[in-house]
Order: sequence, then structure tokens, then C-alpha cells
Amino acid sequence: MDNLPPIDKDYLLDFLTKLLNTPSPTGLAHRAIALAEGTLAAFPFLKLSRTRKGALLATWPGRQSDAPRALTAHIDTLGAMVKEIKSNGRLKMAPIGGFAWNTVEGEGCTVFPSHKEPIRGSILLTEASGHVYGKEVNETKRDNENMEVRLDVITSSPEETRLLGIAVGDFIAFDPRVEVNHNFVRSRHLDDKACVACIVTAVKALAEAGLQPTQTTYLFISNYEEVGHGAASGIPPEAVELVTVDMAAVGEGQTSDEFHPSICVKDSGGPYHHELSQRLRQLADEQHISHKVDIYPYYGSDGEAYWRAGGDVAVALIGPGVDASHNYERTHLEALVGTTQWLVAYLLS
Ligand SMILES: [Zn+2]
Repeated sequence: MDNLPPIDKDYLLDFLTKLLNTPSPTGLAHRAIALAEGTLAAFPFLKLSRTRKGALLATWPGRQSDAPRALTAHIDTLGAMVKEIKSNGRLKMAPIGGFAWNTVEGEGCTVFPSHKEPIRGSILLTEASGHVYGKEVNETKRDNENMEVRLDVITSSPEETRLLGIAVGDFIAFDPRVEVNHNFVRSRHLDDKACVACIVTAVKALAEAGLQPTQTTYLFISNYEEVGHGAASGIPPEAVELVTVDMAAVGEGQTSDEFHPSICVKDSGGPYHHELSQRLRQLADEQHISHKVDIYPYYGSDGEAYWRAGGDVAVALIGPGVDASHNYERTHLEALVGTTQWLVAYLLS
């Protein structure tokens, strides 16, 4: 770490907190994309553009441009959509992305009508009251049929709910409930906003040290990862390497933890690019960046999305360990800083 530029931890946490508090369920990520764009606009050497699909691309000129590279992280998150307005005025939901309903039960949420102000509410089991439904509250299976949104406005009929501007297809964002305690960051959607923050902070680290990446580097902030095709398009085909920056899966049997960055050498989509992964590991060793090597059992990434779409690049995956992923997530500043250092080392290599 001795010869790497310093990482601004306060900046990292501050930007991450802002980003976590900006709702961006897949399909409605424009607010978060705009925040990332506005933040990156502070670095005049980046050329910013958006893809037709709405992703953000920043081109960072390097000292060389004969073998351009790409980094990607996704800014979209899990969420839901209004599936149906129920006879009691409450909302049935269709999930966006892969998660279990019990992980958002009792969570606050925001519904985004297309032409009116957002409306607050919460996600509950239909038979939620313990005093009314007794053991059913414990025994009911949490599924699309048995979960609903209770809106914090007066409505008890579909007509009243429609008058609020709410319609089938409106997006629903889950409250992130961000807290930072003793350098632990606890929030929903650290997947993958934590990694967007690491990339942005890596840019700042190089910029402040007056450094340029060795190769021209594309920073691709994707907006459809949670549904599987985020980076399928949009990464310039000149890129010869793609480092996907996404959270590491922490749990029983995993080497990953909340205090370290991990490199994923294999997930549900199979092995990543061995040579690029080996180079990243070697870089981390050289820079004394303590890290884990892991396999994620139920996991796919934007790197694989690009491979599946025909992208001819070497793909590797690194990122901070996140506990309780696709649930109420948590990581530690050490993992975020380690990931950022690793990115900086890669950019300068
Ligand atoms: Zn992710």
C-alpha cells in the first residue's frame, strides 16, 4: 500500500450514503445515475455519456490506449412494481430482481406514480395483525399473493388509490435504512452501490495524486444488473479487460468476510478469466492488500452478462464482502477501502 495514493474514507462514506439514499430499483435508476454523473463531473478529465439504455459511461484517458480496460458496477437495486390495485385499495406487488419476500417484510417503501408525487407506505403480510390472525402470521408463506403495500394515505378502494395517481406498473423502492456505526455500513442495496462508491473514490484518489490510469479506462455504471442484462451492452468493444466490481457473498462456508475485498474465481456462471484473476491477486499481494479468494454459489454478474452477449474480453470480479446479501446488508469500511485500493492498484498497473 506504500506507493498507492491515499483513499479518502470520508468521501467514500459520504458519497455511498447519498447514493444509498437515492432510490434506484431496476428500471427506475435515473436518479442514482444522475447522482453518479454529477459526482463524476467534478473530474474534468472524464468524458461522460449515457447509453440509450440509460447506463453511465465515463471514459478516462490513460497514459496508453493500446489495450483499453473497463470497470463496471451496477447502480440498480432490487425493488418491486405495482402488479394490481386490490379491492381494499392496497397494492399487490411484482418483484424486481431475485429476493425472498420475508427479507422486506415490515420495510418502509416509496411508490412512484408516473404523474404525481411519490407516496409512502410499507410492505406487510396481508394477514399481518397477530391479534387478529394468531398463528397464521407465523405460518403463512410469504409470496406474491400474501404480501401487499399499505399506503400511508386514506384509501379503502381501488378508485381512491387510482385518484392518488397510482397505477399498475408504478415502481416501488424499499427503504435502504442506512446507518454507519463503528465503520460498519448497514443498509439495503450495498449490492452494488458500495462498489459504485469504490470506483468513484478510486477516481478521486488518482486525480488528487495527479495520476492517470496506465491504460484508457471505461467506467461503466450499469442500470439493469439485478435482472441479468445490465452490462450486456454499452461497454466499448475496444476494451480488452473488464473488472466487474460487485459485492462478495458472505456466509457459512465462504472465505469472504465484511472486512476484506474478495476476488470471485467462480460463480453460477462458471469460472472467471484465470489469467486476469491471477494478475489481480498478484497485484493485491504486491501492494499488501489483504483479500480473499472465493466461489459464490448463487450468483451472477454483469461481467458474465457481457460475456453472454458476446463481449470478447477477459473478465474478473472483485468486491467488498457483504453480509446478508439481498437482505438487510452490511459491510465494513475496511472492505470498501481494500476494494478501492485494489482498483487503484489495477488502474496504475
Ligand atoms: Zn450485485
